Amino acid sequence: MLTAAGVPVQKNNSPRMKPDPKELGFGRFFTDHMFVCKYNPEKGWHDAKITPYQPFQMDPGASVLHYGQALFEGMKAFKNQKGECVLFRPDYNWQRMKDGAERLCMEAPPKDIFIEGIKALVKADLDWLPEDPNCSLYIRPTLIGTEAFLGVRPANEITFFVILSPVGSYYSTGIEPVKIWVEQKYLRAAPGGLGSTKAAANYAGSLKAALEAKKKNCAQVLWLDVERQHIEEVGTMNVFFVFDNEIVTPKLDGTILAGGTRDSLIQLLNRSGRKVTERKVTLKEVMEGVRNGHLKEAFGAGTAAVVTPVGELISDDFNVKINDGRIGPVAQGLYDELTDIQRGLRPDTFHWIVKV
Ligand SMILES: *Cc1c(COP(=O)(O)O)cnc(C)c1O
Repeated sequence: MLTAAGVPVQKNNSPRMKPDPKELGFGRFFTDHMFVCKYNPEKGWHDAKITPYQPFQMDPGASVLHYGQALFEGMKAFKNQKGECVLFRPDYNWQRMKDGAERLCMEAPPKDIFIEGIKALVKADLDWLPEDPNCSLYIRPTLIGTEAFLGVRPANEITFFVILSPVGSYYSTGIEPVKIWVEQKYLRAAPGGLGSTKAAANYAGSLKAALEAKKKNCAQVLWLDVERQHIEEVGTMNVFFVFDNEIVTPKLDGTILAGGTRDSLIQLLNRSGRKVTERKVTLKEVMEGVRNGHLKEAFGAGTAAVVTPVGELISDDFNVKINDGRIGPVAQGLYDELTDIQRGLRPDTFHWIVKV
């Protein structure tokens, strides 16, 4: 079994200048090292190591470049109030990568390589994690097919790598409510497709809608199902609606990404006795809830942006405010609770926190 201490480190002897924590934004800077491990059928998983952050050598025939065999994860390392570095639910991310790899016919890294590799890398680049409690190290584990061939079949050679990016708040505006574009033309995922995986292809397919949403001043896209009737999720977040007596989030039916944040919020809500229903949610009932006042709040949930209130829903044929464009008590409470657990300010009763 691989342990973080057992991962060989090739130290980067020309470390970069660290950016000002106020200038971080999201995903604009990378640290000094990366973790890499390879798979082929003869050797299995082999050559786990930390190297200086550097460009890959890759054959132009590599399957990732032609048939898109690429899958990623997104997680964060935090500095808690005691100054210790912690991960949040890394096994959840490992399991999701494993499930996604199965769907994409790729060999998944074993749990020890995934988690111990991440720990070793975070340790190597610990000085990139800013002290500022609003900052964290975003972790991007990625799995790609690197075998060179042109027939359409699963790659036998796989590379797993992890890179790190110090991040501030996801939105430049902080935990401000965002405007969301309800996408009625383009589709993110169809039944039987890749929607429940973090396949890179899903994001390639979403860029056009995101670009058009940006032109309408919207921060993200809200995706509907194949019939354009049910609400699925936001581009990088799952979505919750607070009606009078019911908190609802769309049921995971294979086209929605099973977010770790979504799962954590459901557990927090259930523990506090506020029942969450996982069911189909129609756009129609949300619009009716806006009109008759029964919809009190809407918010997105994801690692990158944590909890983000939806202040406005906009599309070609409507433009409505939710909770008067303000943060609601449910979203604010969940944001505080989750970030407090991550920072060690509230007890970690669900055992979500893993020390690096
Ligand atoms: C990553 C992602 C989420 C959120 O998942 P978390 O595990 O909470 O970060 C939701 N929807 C999509 C499409 C995503 O890519």
